[in-house]
Amino acid sequence: MGKTAVISGISGQDGAYLAKLLLDKGYRVIGLLRGNTDVDKLKGLVYLGIKDKIEFHVTDLLDITQVENLFILFLPDEFYNLAAQSSVYISFKEPIQTFQFNTISVFNLLETIKKKHPGVKFYQASSSEMYGKVNNLPITENSVLHPLSPYAISKAAAHFTCIHYRESYGLHISCGVLFNHESYLRQEHFFVKKVIRESIKISRGEQEFMYVGNLDVKRDFGYAPKYVEAMYLMLQKNEPSDYLICSGKSVSLRDIVYYVFEKLNIDKSACKISDELYRPADIEDIYGNNTKAKSTLNWDYNLSVSDVLDLLIEEELKNLI
Ligand code: NDP
Repeated sequence: MGKTAVISGISGQDGAYLAKLLLDKGYRVIGLLRGNTDVDKLKGLVYLGIKDKIEFHVTDLLDITQVENLFILFLPDEFYNLAAQSSVYISFKEPIQTFQFNTISVFNLLETIKKKHPGVKFYQASSSEMYGKVNNLPITENSVLHPLSPYAISKAAAHFTCIHYRESYGLHISCGVLFNHESYLRQEHFFVKKVIRESIKISRGEQEFMYVGNLDVKRDFGYAPKYVEAMYLMLQKNEPSDYLICSGKSVSLRDIVYYVFEKLNIDKSACKISDELYRPADIEDIYGNNTKAKSTLNWDYNLSVSDVLDLLIEEELKNLI
């Protein structure tokens, strides 16, 4: 009998790729949905051909009674906590909802595990955004956190909640501090997905311009289907810990736009800057050191950002009608 894993955020990018990986390994996969999930949100799971292999369950993670019932019903071996309001941009517009969901959900899950199911292995989706105002690069597992957005503040609070429960109650909780990672299944308002989709439309004459915010900022971009492998590997270790999952290099958003434009033969003048898309505060440059993940987890990653962009452009071209 295979292990049982529960994934919150199953309708998101990472939830879909992680579910596929776990199903391939023989897991029973329970996917958590919120009450109002429309069928369209499951299109990533349909795209990967796994929707019918997942058992879906509706749970409000802000309601601890529902969380307790979920654990009693499924008795999971592993819990992957990916559900979050995950957009930095939206978090400036909806800071309270972002903070509330991204933190209280984690407390409800960890209280339940602490009281009744201490053997469950728990993965928390932490974020490189927590580091924010960066003094020294590359970021390592020991770098100081200085979040610069409501999203980053919520993720930092959730991250310390996980460390607290691990250290105080001896629970198997690991946090993956993931840097930006992209895929065909990324939501359309995220930068790389937006640039690729809109560039294809420009190249086909369906759109004239693409509007973007601050292109000077630099980020460390990776490939989501490879990053979810690290989540799984963390929960296979005997000892829980925290790991940076990143490529190790940063690239400016301008370089991303120009790379995609060049691939699709688009003139640079099609890219327009919109002040409305600037954030109140932003990380200037960030990249991480993935040595711990590679050496301790045997996580193997060697894609450059242009490798990732090539994969994504190809997949988008294949599927964009
Ligand atoms: P997505 O935005 O694609 O997915 C987020 C998931 O969380 C969706 O399933 C969404 O459900 C669910 N969710 C959001 N709000 C709520 C809520 N209030 N109640 C219940 N469920 C909710 O994110 P990714 O897959 O890209 O990321 C997975 C996790 O990793 C997130 O926690 C994210 O913050 C974190 N992360 C992601 C990075 C990245 O580059 N992708 C980098 C670092 C961390 P619904 O479909 O119903 O909206």
